[in-house]
Amino acid sequence: MPTPPLLELRQVSKVYARGLLAREQVVALNKVSLTIDDQRPSIIAVAGESGSGKTTLGSLVLGFIQPTTGAVLYRGQDVARLNGAAYLRFRREVQAVFQDPFAVFNPFYRVDHLLETPIAKFKLARSKREARRMMEDALNAVGLRPEEILGRFPHQLSGGQRQRITIARALLLKPRLLVADEPVSMVDASLRATILESLRRMRDEHGISILYITHDLTTAYHVSDDILVLYAGNVVEAGDAEQVIRQPKHPYTQLLIDSIPWPEVDRRWGSVELVQRDGAAASGGCRFFARCPAAMPRCAQSAPALYRVSEAQAAACYLHEGQPVALDEVLRASDRAVMA
Ligand code: SF4
Repeated sequence: MPTPPLLELRQVSKVYARGLLAREQVVALNKVSLTIDDQRPSIIAVAGESGSGKTTLGSLVLGFIQPTTGAVLYRGQDVARLNGAAYLRFRREVQAVFQDPFAVFNPFYRVDHLLETPIAKFKLARSKREARRMMEDALNAVGLRPEEILGRFPHQLSGGQRQRITIARALLLKPRLLVADEPVSMVDASLRATILESLRRMRDEHGISILYITHDLTTAYHVSDDILVLYAGNVVEAGDAEQVIRQPKHPYTQLLIDSIPWPEVDRRWGSVELVQRDGAAASGGCRFFARCPAAMPRCAQSAPALYRVSEAQAAACYLHEGQPVALDEVLRASDRAVMA
């Protein structure tokens, strides 16, 4: 029997009800299918604005919330039904790093406490000496010097050091998958590169796959192999990160990329026209209809599928109508392009 993938999202949707008698429904994520294979560790960026569904996707993968329809499977088992040893394994192997590196620190404890807790909880070391060695190894792995970190209080460290300690803490558990939700957005720009480098080392030296959730396409470009762009809960563009960011095909991705002040002199910034038309038609049609500068009458009638635009890139837009393609096929093609 073939080994199941590390993680599989099968047609996962998440719908929230709100308003009087829960009459209004908000689709936070719409039928997303995605597979992450343990054999090919990669960094997949999930990008979009606030409200795009990217954090919902991360919360579903971590098992914090349950899908409304569809399923999230870890090593072939439904995350919602895990128990016993399988649940403990999932809790150890799927780790998270969040936006705020201050939130996980108790100001009254030295940082050692943050690292000692998972070692004790999961009984990872047989002696204090072994625990100490594990902590030192994890700190070294994220480019920190244990002698400068251990024994200190959180306020004695920079935001960048604190965030790398949270990555080291995840690393102690030897995870297979890391969900990194905006891990550099509260860190000084000058320190971001060191954190992104720590994530790359997790992939390259420890074989850990990473879901890198971000609103910032610049960091996604620097760190990720593949990218999914979400808009209103739908995957609107996906594929090889370099291709998608250098040559975006979906009008929404073009708008996102156009809003980045790239340091290239020959690149025009702010050249994409902003539109705001009556969005009522979008309920049955393309979700981007109300803001799309290229919208056509048919876009209001039905939602486009994800169409392949090249071997390793696809966009959900009628401007690129052709062969519909599954997200996983595009991402696998992207892996092949990287390996070639
Ligand atoms: Fe714009 Fe139509 Fe493409 Fe949607 S399908 S992004 S409205 S052109």
